[in-house]
Amino acid sequence: MQALKYFAGYPEPLQAKVRALIEQDRLGALLAEKYDQPHAVRNDGQLYEYVQALKDRHLRKSVPLGKVIYDGKLQVMQHALGTHTAISRVHGGRLKASREIRIATVFRDAPAEFLKMIVVHELAHMKEAEHNKAFYQLCTHMAPDYHQLEFDLRLYLTHLDAARE
Ligand SMILES: [Zn+2]
Repeated sequence: MQALKYFAGYPEPLQAKVRALIEQDRLGALLAEKYDQPHAVRNDGQLYEYVQALKDRHLRKSVPLGKVIYDGKLQVMQHALGTHTAISRVHGGRLKASREIRIATVFRDAPAEFLKMIVVHELAHMKEAEHNKAFYQLCTHMAPDYHQLEFDLRLYLTHLDAARE
């Protein structure tokens, strides 16, 4: 059996369950039922406002946001489902950090909860570079069901790939 791209490293019995859901054509309906809220974050300007609002609520004291954009070339798995770039510039002799956040375009049409999950992930990276315990604590602080959302996002991406084939 070929390993499922978004479930690499997960136990084979779990992957078998996911494959069965795809073969029975049930995965899409299951996800649509659980995640039935779309979002209205259609363009980069709206995305910036969305990210800023979440940041204001949870990470007010961290460095200011830099550019925030949807990126059509971004591979979701390339960097655990998003990417983040630290850009340091010298301003008047002192180092000022700014953060650029790129969100894969697939999230523009994804359910609202998945957009929130990926933005929470990227915001957490403003304080923690690594995927360590402190990082995931920040994620669950911003989205208490973060781990479930990340798991379900893997299901969603698997479903999109299967539907395309
Ligand atoms: Zn990450």
